[in-house]
Amino acid sequence: MPTQSPYLLFSDGKGNIFEDTSLYASGRSGWDALPVPTEDWIELPYGGSLYELPGRFGIGIDVKTGEMRLCKKGNAVAAFIPPAHTGLYLAAYETEKDAPTLPLFCYTAAGWLNDKFYVPALRIEEDVRQECSGYDSDKIKTGAGFLLEAYPNNRLAKHLMENCCMTYKCPAARNFALGRWECPVPSSPACNANCIGCISFQPQEETIPPAQDRLTFRPTPEEIVEFTVPHLQTAPFPIVSFGQGCEGEPLLMWETIRDSIIEMRKHTNRGSININTNGSKPDAVKALCEAGLNSIRVSTNSARKHFYEAYYRPNNYQFEDIIESLKTVSSHGGWASINYFVFPGMTDNVEEYECLRKLIRETGLNMIQWRNFNIDPDWYLGRIGATDTGEFLGIKQLMGLVREEFPKVKFGYFNPPMERMKGNYEADFAH
Ligand code: SF4
Repeated sequence: MPTQSPYLLFSDGKGNIFEDTSLYASGRSGWDALPVPTEDWIELPYGGSLYELPGRFGIGIDVKTGEMRLCKKGNAVAAFIPPAHTGLYLAAYETEKDAPTLPLFCYTAAGWLNDKFYVPALRIEEDVRQECSGYDSDKIKTGAGFLLEAYPNNRLAKHLMENCCMTYKCPAARNFALGRWECPVPSSPACNANCIGCISFQPQEETIPPAQDRLTFRPTPEEIVEFTVPHLQTAPFPIVSFGQGCEGEPLLMWETIRDSIIEMRKHTNRGSININTNGSKPDAVKALCEAGLNSIRVSTNSARKHFYEAYYRPNNYQFEDIIESLKTVSSHGGWASINYFVFPGMTDNVEEYECLRKLIRETGLNMIQWRNFNIDPDWYLGRIGATDTGEFLGIKQLMGLVREEFPKVKFGYFNPPMERMKGNYEADFAH
């Protein structure tokens, strides 16, 4: 924790960043700029990045008068904080009329003090599986080459190694190449939702690109089983995870996934089989649980039906279906998590909190993965019609209230391995 509030950052638009010592950095919650408590600032964790925001001027607090004012010396600056950390405040800035929509990253507040960058955030997950320092690119290259040689006719192994691992640098695909932890298994070229901030597909009329391209083929159970069984049998803390950023909705491929799970479990009972999903098809989830699915992670921007549906724009399903999917896994003894897109001012809104309590109670939820929402804040709030974001608690306070009322609900950032779900969850898993 710094001894005082860090100074505001601005950029010259050419990639150079400077501090303005006449202004303290502020934060944003909903539509409001506000001071950030000194104790909420931490050093920008290793692996974090800084972005200059074109057409935007940072809002700071005058060090002499305490007044809020704009920094017109250059563009506003925000931080992309690395996985396992949750941002507590967004970057505060004023957006010019013709400013471009920002790409699909998170924009956390950032400041500078005593030669260090600071962000208002906290580490929410001890698991180090996506720690930037843990990726050795030579070993990854060797591992990818080995898998491509081992599975020469496997389209999915080829996609995972050539696209996901070596091109997109996907943390899960790189862990698979290193023969450890969570192995990603994308399977669906199509989706039954139309998320405004979809990371694998953006309509032509939108000005921002998707983060990665969507899978273009439907893998067979044989292709899936060929590499997942050895991974489950040999990897430390193994997880096989359906539902990845480079595909649509995996539940649209439930029969293929069901048959794959049945075949995997014929060969091994080791590890966990998980699905990351929009939770749209509870009947399909039931069939997967009966086949041996161990855990589910349902993504959501909100526990409020109207904001969920305004963002997901679902085809032939509704908010109640995702609740049903979570309940289904709980009732089969599986582990149910939500992938909760954290947006300060919306996630910690008082009404949202009440809906979250209801969701936890109704579903028997095991875990909340507090994920930073990778989206342009103004664009998001505008598109879902959140003109007034209302009263908010503060992200830290929200977490405290949930922890107190639901002590069994785990907080984190990643899908836990079987050893954690069934064993001593708090045990040192920094592996
Ligand atoms: S559910 Fe996933 S794949 Fe489907 S539109 Fe939303 S982000 Fe995209």
